[in-house]
Amino acid sequence: MTLHASDAAASAPVYPLIINGQKVNLDSVFPVDDPATGAVVGFAPNAGEAELNAAVAAAAAAFPGWAARPDADRVAACHAIADKLEAHADELSRLITREQGKPLNGVGSRFEVQGAAGWCRYTAGLTLPVEVLQDGEAGRVEMHRKPVGVVGSITPWNWPMIIAVWHILPAIRSGCTVVCKPSPYTPLSTLRMVELMNEVLPAGVVNVVTGDDKGTSLGGLISAHPDIRKVVFTGSTATGQKVMRSAADTMKRLTLELGGNDAGIVLPDADPQAIAEGLFWGAFINMGQTCAALKRLYVHDSIHDAVVEALAAYIRNIPVGNGLEETSVMGPVANKMQFDKVAALVESARAKGTVVTGGAPGEGLFFPPTVITGLSNGDPLVDQEQFGPALPVIRYTDLEEAIRAANDSPSGLGGSVWSSDPEKARAVASRLECGTVWINKHGMIQPNAPFGGTKMSGLGVEFGQEGLLEYTDIQVMIL
Ligand code: NAD
Repeated sequence: MTLHASDAAASAPVYPLIINGQKVNLDSVFPVDDPATGAVVGFAPNAGEAELNAAVAAAAAAFPGWAARPDADRVAACHAIADKLEAHADELSRLITREQGKPLNGVGSRFEVQGAAGWCRYTAGLTLPVEVLQDGEAGRVEMHRKPVGVVGSITPWNWPMIIAVWHILPAIRSGCTVVCKPSPYTPLSTLRMVELMNEVLPAGVVNVVTGDDKGTSLGGLISAHPDIRKVVFTGSTATGQKVMRSAADTMKRLTLELGGNDAGIVLPDADPQAIAEGLFWGAFINMGQTCAALKRLYVHDSIHDAVVEALAAYIRNIPVGNGLEETSVMGPVANKMQFDKVAALVESARAKGTVVTGGAPGEGLFFPPTVITGLSNGDPLVDQEQFGPALPVIRYTDLEEAIRAANDSPSGLGGSVWSSDPEKARAVASRLECGTVWINKHGMIQPNAPFGGTKMSGLGVEFGQEGLLEYTDIQVMIL
């Protein structure tokens, strides 16, 4: 649904685009709904090719000046952005909760904003030193890192603010400029965040465009734009493939953080009571709508029932409700599209599996945390990325068979091993085909640890020094 901005403004705030440091209001806007209540939270501009071209032109014009500044200016800018996020933490976390659904509390929107600010500060501390590869009678060889230029950032709806920070901060830290495009489901927190960033950045360094994706696909235009040198994309594997195809003509640099179907393996020596809480957060963080959430759990036959019971007991005490309520630990599913997908996958599992907790949709977009046993590879809830609050638990007897089943997936984002013996766990962990593997935990990511997927889960990494290097080209100087 698109509306005229003047009609929309009467019912909820209209957020502007930010292009070249200016607030840009458009006549056409689209509503963003609160998944907990269905109420309109606010309106975002329905930008098209003209606005995207203006944003790219602003970023291209800002690039040479930004890249040439003393490094200390870019360090200071990262800290200034962190200060802004911290100063507006309450407003931003409420906006995230209202447009996305995750609770304010726990591992929710306050955590997201605080984490985003911490990521800014960590990124400020990274550097791009010149490496001397050779210096002697045969001459001197230096390797320099040059910022690639204008970066297009395309983000999903599950962690809208922190993922945008993961794209924007290393880009500007390395000297690039950015045009970002949030998901049409959750554009408001990014619009507001970029507005705040522009209070401390030169015009054009970070720009934001939004669209409802029903007419012009801004994401498609970004991936094909001749003046964008790199695209950093976080989203589904299917869309990532489209981005890669359309980026080919202009040979863009790409970082693709795509879908996952993370497996966990519980070894027979694990303590069910001790791991229940970690399993819960691994699987149900952000209502399971997390790329590196635990999405399939293989449990040894000898402790299968005890693990399922311990997890179910933990879940029974989890309050599900409107994320604005301080007591809520889980909120609604973020949108109708995702709700329908999860409900269909759970329904498909009923015939064969046993629903231990949850299973039946609640009011509106609420879906209770659901655990289903009796499934195996080949069942849709096991093979597909459910991206929602439903965890299949699969019984195994032979560890080799469990490792094979865990690896039998086109995805390779994360994985975990649960055991009382760290050395045994480490031996199994090293055999999982994925970019990150955890022991007795799942899904924790941190700014100093490169994060990315193997197989169909992506290309390249984010975070740490390796993540920063993805925003640069190498220039070798031979003297
Ligand atoms: P999505 O692929 O539907 O959308 C992601 C973004 O791409 C949105 O901004 C969307 O508007 C845009 N887009 C749509 N069509 C496009 C096109 N043709 N070209 C370019 N961009 C286009 O994903 P989603 O539903 O928003 O997010 C959920 C998915 O994201 C899940 O698969 C999840 O695993 C994945 N994800 C991965 C990571 C990671 O780090 N690996 C993190 C979060 C989410």
